[in-house]
Amino acid sequence: MKKIQMVDLQSQYKKIKGEVDNAVLNVMDDATFINGPKVKSFQKKLEEYLNIKHVIPCANGTDALQIAMMGLNLMPGDEVITTNFTFAATVEVIALLRLTPVLVDVELETFNIDCDKLEKVINNRTKAIVPVHLFGQPANMEKIMSIAKKHKLFVIEDNAQAIGASYKFKSGLTMKTGTIGDIGATSFFPSKNLGCFGDGGALFTNNDDLAHKIRGIVNHGMYKRYHHDVVGVNSRLDSVQAAVLDAKLPHLNSYNKSRQNAAKKYTESLQGLDEIITPKFANGCLEICDNCHCHVFHQYTIRILNNKRDDLAKHLSDLQIPHGIYYPIPLHKQSAYFSKNYKDDDFPNTILLCDQVISLPMHSELEDDQINFICEKIKSFLK
Ligand SMILES: *Cc1c(COP(=O)(O)O)cnc(C)c1O
Repeated sequence: MKKIQMVDLQSQYKKIKGEVDNAVLNVMDDATFINGPKVKSFQKKLEEYLNIKHVIPCANGTDALQIAMMGLNLMPGDEVITTNFTFAATVEVIALLRLTPVLVDVELETFNIDCDKLEKVINNRTKAIVPVHLFGQPANMEKIMSIAKKHKLFVIEDNAQAIGASYKFKSGLTMKTGTIGDIGATSFFPSKNLGCFGDGGALFTNNDDLAHKIRGIVNHGMYKRYHHDVVGVNSRLDSVQAAVLDAKLPHLNSYNKSRQNAAKKYTESLQGLDEIITPKFANGCLEICDNCHCHVFHQYTIRILNNKRDDLAKHLSDLQIPHGIYYPIPLHKQSAYFSKNYKDDDFPNTILLCDQVISLPMHSELEDDQINFICEKIKSFLK
């Protein structure tokens, strides 16, 4: 059996080494390191893949979220609602811009924002909602878009963990996550479903004016060379990263399919056990498809009951089986984001999940014998 890794970037690279190396060497030959043709080419391909008018590449996913909020003109004091159970980047940029983060509890089944609780925290200072498609599972966009419309709020989708996932509305319309709200933000961090060889990110929007505004913000607020109309930032996807992504994008569906197959195998092996709750597959769908919801399993995250999670984690460590606890502490308990307005009673699900979740190795190169080995060790421990 091959050594089990949480994420196996080497095996993935080896399969497309020729394509990737060529693309990267071309950038070096041309010396077009910033804003080279590869950046445009990747941008165009991603626009087609997502079926969106504008992709604006930037330096990383955290920047993408920040730039989205700058592009929407959110101002200090504006309240931005997001989930208490996410990577800190989501709430970090809200706080950095001196906006007020308002954290909301999640659903136990999907780990995504609870829309009933979301609606209860809306007031006249609320300006935007940031749903996170956590672990690759689409949030309830039907409900979120309807709440946003009713209260005239912007929607910024944090799509860092869900590129390639889709969401089907009751009308039958199916859209890729990240393209449903006013803006989508994503990350190309190496371990994400579509990863480059360093840092990278992008914004998505169908709004021409917003796209124009954002293209200026990522480049020091310049719309005409050395004319600075708004305060911007320096946030670029460099050409080497774009070359890698340009070569990898055609493989994204097959990478996501491999993740779904691995998830299916895990679930087949682990379901029906008393002390494990396996993750919900979006709407029961187990495929990459263009006409239903699909979950792209950035993480395969199970819940371990009866306070056995930490012991299981230690057991896996002893066996050198990698695993992760995403996330061990609710954001409202982090010193940086603590507010006296929050009460633990507001977040029973987040608090429970922080004590129960454990994520198992998940990537496009997982092999059946590795999955079987991991599941056998979990089952024998819980017996
Ligand atoms: C990875 C991630 C980000 C940040 O992306 P970076 O490219 O690392 O800045 C933001 N939100 C979520 C949910 C993420 O998983």
